[in-house]
Amino acid sequence: MIQIARSFLERIERAAEVAYPEECCGLLVGRRGAADDILVTRVAESANVTTGDARTSFEVDPRVLLALMKEFRGRDDDIVGLYHSHPDHSAEPSARDLDRVFEPDLVWLITAVAQGRSVETRAHVYEPEGPHFRAVALRATMGEEGGQAS
Ligand SMILES: [Zn+2]
Repeated sequence: MIQIARSFLERIERAAEVAYPEECCGLLVGRRGAADDILVTRVAESANVTTGDARTSFEVDPRVLLALMKEFRGRDDDIVGLYHSHPDHSAEPSARDLDRVFEPDLVWLITAVAQGRSVETRAHVYEPEGPHFRAVALRATMGEEGGQAS
């Protein structure tokens, strides 16, 4: 299960609306537990630096990634996933997303945006045996440290 503070989720969904009709993107920082258990402790927004069509593709700014890696050296926090939006498409990973898996352990958070409004956010992990994405439960919590249920 992916646990994320409701405020983080709202920030991602707002970013998806602001970026519409283009895709927004960023990285998820957190801690891993057993199996699919991930606690998101921070959201690192990025500009979409894709060289393609930003309405159908995204690229996290490598400077955002590098800055985080430098900061986390020797600490418990780590990059646990990434997020992006699907303008006028579902929250399911696309074939293009599958082609772009560069780090199999990351969780993919995708926000579907319909006519400028965020309608749904879903979490998936990569299943190398498929290869395909597998949906994982996403739980929005009240506290930013993922404490009690909302
Ligand atoms: Zn996508």
